[in-house]
Amino acid sequence: MAQDIRWIKTHCARMDHGGCSLFVGVKDNRIVKVKGDPDGYLNKGYICPKGLASPDRLTHPDRLTHPLKRTGKRGEGKWTRISWQEALEETAENLNRIKEKYGARSVAFGLGMPKGLEHFVLIRLANLFGSPNVVTSQDVCHAPREITGLHTCGFYPVADLHHKSKLILLWASNITSTNEEGEISSMLLKQLKDGAELVVIDPRKIDLVTKSKKWLQVRPGTDHALALGFINVIIEESLYDKNFVEKWTYGFEDLKNHVREYTPEKVSEITWVPPDLIRETAKLYAISKPAVIQWGNPIEHNIHTFHITRALICLMAICGNLDITGGNVQAKNPKIMGLGPFVRADLFPNKWKEMIGTYHHTIPRLMTLPPAFFRKAILEGVPYPVKGFYAMCANPMLSYADSRQTYEAFLNLDFIAIADLFMTPTAAMGDIVLPVATQFEFNDIGHFGLGHGFILARPKVVEPPEECWPDMKILNELGKLITPAEYWHDDYSGFLEDVLKPSGLTFDQFVEKGYLKGPETYKGYEEKGFRTPTGKVELKLSTAEKFKLPPLPEFDGLPEEDSPEYPLVLTSSKSLYFLHSSYRWIKKLREKRPDPKAEIHPETASKHGIKEGDPVVIETRYGKITHIAHLTDIVDPRVISASHGWWFPEAKAESLFDWEKSNFNMLTSTEKLSKQFGTPNLKGIGCRIRRN
Ligand code: SF4
Repeated sequence: MAQDIRWIKTHCARMDHGGCSLFVGVKDNRIVKVKGDPDGYLNKGYICPKGLASPDRLTHPDRLTHPLKRTGKRGEGKWTRISWQEALEETAENLNRIKEKYGARSVAFGLGMPKGLEHFVLIRLANLFGSPNVVTSQDVCHAPREITGLHTCGFYPVADLHHKSKLILLWASNITSTNEEGEISSMLLKQLKDGAELVVIDPRKIDLVTKSKKWLQVRPGTDHALALGFINVIIEESLYDKNFVEKWTYGFEDLKNHVREYTPEKVSEITWVPPDLIRETAKLYAISKPAVIQWGNPIEHNIHTFHITRALICLMAICGNLDITGGNVQAKNPKIMGLGPFVRADLFPNKWKEMIGTYHHTIPRLMTLPPAFFRKAILEGVPYPVKGFYAMCANPMLSYADSRQTYEAFLNLDFIAIADLFMTPTAAMGDIVLPVATQFEFNDIGHFGLGHGFILARPKVVEPPEECWPDMKILNELGKLITPAEYWHDDYSGFLEDVLKPSGLTFDQFVEKGYLKGPETYKGYEEKGFRTPTGKVELKLSTAEKFKLPPLPEFDGLPEEDSPEYPLVLTSSKSLYFLHSSYRWIKKLREKRPDPKAEIHPETASKHGIKEGDPVVIETRYGKITHIAHLTDIVDPRVISASHGWWFPEAKAESLFDWEKSNFNMLTSTEKLSKQFGTPNLKGIGCRIRRN
């Protein structure tokens, strides 16, 4: 049998951002085995349980295999099968009807985590249609790091794990469980093997703590105070990079005066991290060069995310770790088409003025719509009504804060079309549901537009079921119906050729190479300065007044004030076996993690009469859910860590798959939001628990 298997090299996707190079064994148009590629650019042979289980999605009996139209009430779970032509025409008619009546901007386009090129094809569709409103969860993932980077140092500082660092500061990044956009944990493990030291900053004692020199068990939601405490120590003890600071930073004296109040003792009271540990870690980061900060997206999970990301970039800068080998760098793209031309930004010059986010004074350069403002527009018509929604690769019923608000908002839309692999709680709220192909079933390019300086080839390995279309194909055909046809290709593969054209490669030639990366050059600022108004790293923002931004990073409070009614602090974590709300239907993965777990310290559990495996209720001011108790000292006795993204594919469609029962976002709210990004509090929320 082994001789009959044809091995095809491609890259993983859709199980997360993707990135691992894989060998996929195919027999009779069926994937029979998947293994990591020892020469993979990011993974060097590594593959996670999701990657191994990924073929099970393709042949799963519950997979969507033909377009559906709702017949009952919205969310009632009643459907009829329709043809692709009917599905596209009905979607186009509804979107055009809304455009005519309310204007193009009243149609929003929704995206989940980027998987491949379709992400940018959808933005192109929105631009051509004339809607500035592309809704994504960037408020809690990626945008604060990238956009704050653009304002502070002119680029998005990514961790250079490809070159040797002396120290890795793993800040809120449980990378061996979740991996990260452009950073697979095997890269970090290789660095440790080669002698790099590790410091872990995390409220949970994650696996990598055993390999670390220090672990700072920070109170959830206080990372900004901790980073300011580090800056205080480094400046007070004169450990900063004087040469870099003098030549390449703006506002150092202001920062120096400003951080005086953030002594380790004061910061310790806020963060629960002992003062000496703050001192020692700050010093270690300052004297280890190059040192790199691998920052995870939990630093974007509360209303203070702008201050947290600003403080961390200031920390990188004053220690001279920006844009150096083994530090936090500006990745350069290979010779490929730019993002702006690809999405045809030129055809929508007034986009910024028309975006809903702009009305709410979100930070300039944030080009997606925060979900909180999207739902406000639907429910309150502010600043104008949103009536239609087309979404793909997304499950907002689970992923947006305050899930009940999402449900209410969806009930109030005139029209919803959802493209997905499976019927999810969100797809079940659709009027039209479109079945899509997985990345193993079409040619694609990975990591385009993500700021990591490389793209990955993802050639098709098997044919999709007849009626499952790649998202790119759906968008290409829908585009011809709702926007001028001349901007679309005969076949969606034209988008792949567009991206590659400047490189001179065809898609097949690109597949031969496997990946393309930009030049590895550093310290570009020595020639051209930093791409900020002052040409320097702006420790103090020179544009603060103009853009109404706080000039210096500060600690402006806990995400929520402490309250005796909700005495515990709630955080959450993602699992190695799932991606956000996905893949609970895959047996192999579900067997590993059958239930949503609440991590509770044994002392806290005993106070509440809770034993291992007991069902528990977790409650906040905003709602309550049930989880299964897991007693563990990886969390502080004052902290409860719940599981993110839970719903139950085995439940009934008419119950929307028990979307409320264990869904973390029943515990969150959009009452308080970050001014810059519209980010709600997902971590550091007051809670209480009891046995169910
Ligand atoms: S780490 Fe991500 S890219 Fe790698 S195999 Fe797992 S899901 Fe795929």
